[in-house]
Amino acid sequence: MKKQLQQLSAYQPGLSPQALKEKFGIEGELYKLASNENLYGPSPRVKEAIEAHLDELFYYPETGSPSLRKAISKHLNVDESRILFGAGLDEVILMISRAVLTPGDKIVTSEATFGQYYHNAIVESAEVVKVPLKNGGFDLEGILKEVNSDTSLVWLCNPNNPTGTYFSHDELESFLERVPSHVPVLIDEAYFEFVTAEDYPDTLKLQERFDNAFLLRTFSKAYGLAGLRVGYVVATNEAIEKWNIIRPPFNVTRISEYAAIAALEDQDYLKEITRKNAKEREKFYNIEQSKHFLPSQTNFVFVVTDKPQALYNELLNVGCITRPFPNGVRITIGFEEQNNKMIEVLKQFNY
Ligand SMILES: *Cc1c(COP(=O)(O)O)cnc(C)c1O
Repeated sequence: MKKQLQQLSAYQPGLSPQALKEKFGIEGELYKLASNENLYGPSPRVKEAIEAHLDELFYYPETGSPSLRKAISKHLNVDESRILFGAGLDEVILMISRAVLTPGDKIVTSEATFGQYYHNAIVESAEVVKVPLKNGGFDLEGILKEVNSDTSLVWLCNPNNPTGTYFSHDELESFLERVPSHVPVLIDEAYFEFVTAEDYPDTLKLQERFDNAFLLRTFSKAYGLAGLRVGYVVATNEAIEKWNIIRPPFNVTRISEYAAIAALEDQDYLKEITRKNAKEREKFYNIEQSKHFLPSQTNFVFVVTDKPQALYNELLNVGCITRPFPNGVRITIGFEEQNNKMIEVLKQFNY
């Protein structure tokens, strides 16, 4: 067995609504607001697309998701050869780590970011450098100081999970201008669709200048397809050609591929979802206690407190399952009804 597995454990999900109800004797509805899923669900067109392909379940998928590739290529205006799909971004992160990292290599990222960057690096026996947060968000200058010619990968998460914070186009551009040009910079934009900030990066544009800037996006969050597992990376065709060697031949299922195409085609629905999310998000920041919340560009709010368990329990009491962290609680923005209940709790909580 790989020795490094001794320092890791399998992903621990939170308790399900049913398990929590039984454990705490809670009556009434419990809402899962712990994993940043889109409670509204995907576009209604997704269900139609799935139904239209139900008679093909015995066929393997087309390797490399060619129909979805065409759709994304057109949507983003990038060449088809520059896209690689995974069973969720989780698998994309795994494939890149597996393709690039060898024992003793070094990755640089932030502390308090998406755990899969660390996890996969350790599996490949790479060393992980975690740069402390600055003002609750990614410290690009701090990361730059840690990057040198030995660095194999840099992971940036924008907006960042779990903090919800973002860095701007100018900050990313200045970072890419100074990072050694052979160091791949992976930019995870899982929450891209929820962003409303005007100065958020146009990463596709930056890719025209920087061959080492790679972009990751997913159908799990705003598109509401977390259960179907589709994510992708946009990179140079040289990088994609190599990473594709790692990809399990039938990783994205047939149904997932058609569901993602249908979701992508319904941009009006996506706009409606993100508009509602922005409206609800604003309500959290309109209360005085929002000085305890990190500024969010996502579908979640990170509440800073040294009593995360107490806050988690109070939110559970109003029917909302959130996600506690050592220095706070991450709340996925839900429907209006739950948000109002959570805001009442946040108004009277003793931070
Ligand atoms: C949710 C999330 C992912 C994983 O998404 P999947 O496509 O569902 O695997 C990746 N990165 C970040 C930052 C996320 O929050």
